Amino acid sequence: MKLCFVERRELAPTIWEYSFESERPLDFVSGQYVSIAVPGVQDDPRGPSRVYTLTSQPGESILKFILKLPEPHSPHKEALTQLKPGDLASCQDAMGDLILPKDPSIPLVFVAGGIGVASYVSMIQKLLDTREERPVFFYYALSAKREQLYRELFNSYPLTLNMLTIAPNHITAQQVLDTSPPDSFYYLSGSQRFVEGLRAQFEQLGVPRNSIVFDYYDGYVDL
Ligand SMILES: Cc1cc2nc3c(=O)[nH]c(=O)nc-3n(C[C@H](O)[C@H](O)[C@H](O)COP(=O)(O)OP(=O)(O)OC[C@H]3O[C@@H](n4cnc5c(N)ncnc54)[C@H](O)[C@@H]3O)c2cc1C
Repeated sequence: MKLCFVERRELAPTIWEYSFESERPLDFVSGQYVSIAVPGVQDDPRGPSRVYTLTSQPGESILKFILKLPEPHSPHKEALTQLKPGDLASCQDAMGDLILPKDPSIPLVFVAGGIGVASYVSMIQKLLDTREERPVFFYYALSAKREQLYRELFNSYPLTLNMLTIAPNHITAQQVLDTSPPDSFYYLSGSQRFVEGLRAQFEQLGVPRNSIVFDYYDGYVDL
């Protein structure tokens, strides 16, 4: 589907939110991601597109996502920085299983590493919009406090638990299990190292595989 670049804004140092207008509302569920292709990408070994988690709401004509712009960065990200309002890009169909379960009574454990927090933004906004109060346990790990995102959004939802961990401290699966109900559904999102490390810990501690869903934001060493 065709997208038209609207604007970008810096949410925190090196972290940018991109907004595109879509020709019609994209069919997706809060928590899903899309592959975005941008024009003008030169010699990128990974090609012109990347996958981004949507932080906007289904039904809206503006699609939003966030990304980290490291130095150096890929030709794909350089092309994103060169976009002018009105420039065209495109996206594929949305995918992903970090979505809300149908049963509203299941306790939800959202674990985010850095900009992996993007995976929960649309879900929390949806719960706020529909005034649905679900038990949500939120664990957010950052390498620096200045990288904290969406503080207002998460503060406006009645989270059952809101735990921020800043490096050199680390979130452990044991900590999560000690502070959330045993019948929870566990969501993990962040860098590959963050997600795979926690997933292995959860499994070692006896959490069934089918109670864990995860997205790792590949390409980044850390988030
Ligand atoms: C399900 C899923 C959801 C995702 N959601 C998001 C999301 O919401 N937001 C998001 O940002 N990403 C997301 N990603 C990851 C995203 O698709 C990209 O893989 C990621 O942003 C890295 O982008 P990049 O390859 O353009 O590398 P960059 O971000 O440009 O670089 C990655 C690393 O490589 C280094 N590097 C890059 N180019 C060079 C070079 N020429 N020389 C030396 N070092 C270099 C950088 O300094 C950096 O350390 C998601 C991935 C998946 C699978």
